[in-house]
Amino acid sequence: MLPTIFNPSKLEKAISQLNPDRIYLENIRALLGTNTTIAKLICNTAVRQGYFEKRFAVECGNEDDGRIVATYNSQEEIPETITCDLCEMEGKKSTFKKEDLRIYPIYKYIYGNGRS
Ligand SMILES: [Zn+2]
Repeated sequence: MLPTIFNPSKLEKAISQLNPDRIYLENIRALLGTNTTIAKLICNTAVRQGYFEKRFAVECGNEDDGRIVATYNSQEEIPETITCDLCEMEGKKSTFKKEDLRIYPIYKYIYGNGRS
């Protein structure tokens, strides 16, 4: 248990400044003024307690893009090859191998959960 680190009301306040569907570890770290290790602990606790849902975001492989191509519920669901539709439309390299892409956790805030 991490009662002093995990403070739901503080977390809710921080999240009110974010897009609740796309919360990054870095957002939490910055808003709570903490380090990455603590931010990770807070996010993991939030997932366990039902405040957050964890997803995996896959970023486009083109350095000048940086868009999230897709999000998945688990790492196992991520296909071996991923296509960025926007880069495809722009005529750029658009098909990438999973192992070449940046994959990172993304959190969705669940309103009303965990509150009792
Ligand atoms: Zn792209």
